[in-house]
Amino acid sequence: MKIRLAAILPNSTVNGDGLRKVFFSQGCSHHCQGCFNQHTWPFNGGKICDCDQLINETLEETYLSGVTFCGGEPFQQVIPFAYLAKKFKKNKINIWCFTGYTWEELQNLITKDSNVRELLTSVDVLIDGRFNKKMMNKKNKFPSTTNQRIIDVQKSLKINKIVLWKK
Ligand code: SF4
Repeated sequence: MKIRLAAILPNSTVNGDGLRKVFFSQGCSHHCQGCFNQHTWPFNGGKICDCDQLINETLEETYLSGVTFCGGEPFQQVIPFAYLAKKFKKNKINIWCFTGYTWEELQNLITKDSNVRELLTSVDVLIDGRFNKKMMNKKNKFPSTTNQRIIDVQKSLKINKIVLWKK
């Protein structure tokens, strides 16, 4: 399985809770106002990587608190991200994911694409919705805007209602 990535950040403390490895997806059609990662928009950019190699390397890095998927738009490369997520989950690796889709949009996509369900059901925490630089949220250590929510995915799926993540 191959995946197109804009970059990998081996160690980050500003893309989720704790020390995380960050996988930046290449390709995003949302084109949010003030996006910090506009180089990730083209779907033909970045670098093609082997998913199993990424997984095996990451499993060796036992000092990590977890991994983060961000963008680009991970849900627009849903098959390889679901593949990564499933394997990470199986190995008890904590997964955060940034998406430009809202939770409600993903619930709609789930009914049309089982891969969306696969990815979402493996993720622990989701930061959802379009970025808007006019609505900057200074409370979070990662760039985010006040319309975006930090969602506890597993609890939310269980009761079919958004439950916000608490540390
Ligand atoms: S979803 Fe993320 S990568 Fe895509 S345009 Fe918005 S902020 Fe940029």
